[in-house]
Amino acid sequence: MALRLHAPVVLPADPACSVVRDGVVDVDDHGRISYCGPADSAPTDTRAPALTRRLGGILLPGLINTHAHSPMVLLRGMGGDLPLLRWLREVIWPAEAKLRPSDVRAGMTLGSVEMLRRGVTTSTEMYFHADEMAASVLETGARVVLGAPIIDLPGLRWQSMLAETERWIDADGLRFGDGDRIELSYAPHSAYTLPIEALEAVAASSSDRGALVQIHVAESADEDAEQRAAHGSVPSMLDKLGLLRGRLLAAHAVHLSDADIALFARTGTGVAHCPGSNAKLASGIARLADLRAASVAVGLGTDGPASNDDLDLWQEVQLAAMLARLSTSDATALSAADALLLATRGGAEALGRDDIGALEEGRWADLVHVNLDDPAFATGLDVPDEQVLANLVWAAGSRTVTDVWVAGQQVVAGGEPTRVDRAAAQADVAEASVHLR
Ligand SMILES: [Zn+2]
Repeated sequence: MALRLHAPVVLPADPACSVVRDGVVDVDDHGRISYCGPADSAPTDTRAPALTRRLGGILLPGLINTHAHSPMVLLRGMGGDLPLLRWLREVIWPAEAKLRPSDVRAGMTLGSVEMLRRGVTTSTEMYFHADEMAASVLETGARVVLGAPIIDLPGLRWQSMLAETERWIDADGLRFGDGDRIELSYAPHSAYTLPIEALEAVAASSSDRGALVQIHVAESADEDAEQRAAHGSVPSMLDKLGLLRGRLLAAHAVHLSDADIALFARTGTGVAHCPGSNAKLASGIARLADLRAASVAVGLGTDGPASNDDLDLWQEVQLAAMLARLSTSDATALSAADALLLATRGGAEALGRDDIGALEEGRWADLVHVNLDDPAFATGLDVPDEQVLANLVWAAGSRTVTDVWVAGQQVVAGGEPTRVDRAAAQADVAEASVHLR
């Protein structure tokens, strides 16, 4: 054991969302959890004692952002009052055409710092110059599921983009980096921005390599009219093309029929639910209660910071619960505990990962410490478990995160990143964004 963290409350993010009082999390030399549970049942190490840290607050797994385009911090605030397709075509795609690799590096570094400070240890990213993004994340110490977008736009050939993903996976493997920090994936942008043969090629190539495929699905009502006319729905189209046979993560998935939900459940397709982005772009409210009732694996995503601007996954936790309740007129539709699990264990399940998202023996020690020195916790921890969870989810949120570890290594201390300088990361984005205007 290399590190023992001892806290008055530990939330392992087990399926019951247990609240462990006087809990301990042990981390081994490789950065994986070797024990999580009550202190009085913790193993006693007869060898040299581990570094033990007594924390005063709540320890929980690092949050998992299942859908993001974080380098878009460079474009934050641009066209923020336009609907999705006009926003993409008139503002975002023209600006992205000017992106240089160094811009993406600066954008991802800042996006990564921003998420880590809020307790998001893993993000699922789809963006250009993915090699630069990998370098950023290795620098900040976060964890990422990375996909270079495959899209058919003027000047961009999907064939060469797919070949680039294949080359990278074949060269470096699906996972690499200290603590397996990088996972490579396929990122076809959407059914409406790619021809059928591109989606078929992605299905074959990703299945050969056992890789995750992340794709936008049924985000706005009018984006995929042609695909729906030809195939009934985008999920049934993806099924026919073979994409639901492997690991697939459907981002947004707002406009789903009962048959689509049943298909996702049957095929083990994961969903990245992005309530904040969907609300801001008036895309609709995803059928979270129905997805959960069908046992579809659902995680939460911020989407890019140009459409949901602060990369704060805690807001998605609140919004997911509020919109699920509002859209079903049922205040019991999603509890605080259920909402928190979506951002942790649920995110891992949606990604098809069993090594993150919960504090369990064998998983990576990706951890968040929430400080209690905040009005949200004025009543203390000596209250019923439900009240601890309610105060954390409904009242506290990201501002109370002070310390973060990834694979057992501390990457945020006292609210600031330990490996990169936040002011310098902000200055780099200021400089890079100038020529994108
Ligand atoms: Zn997106």
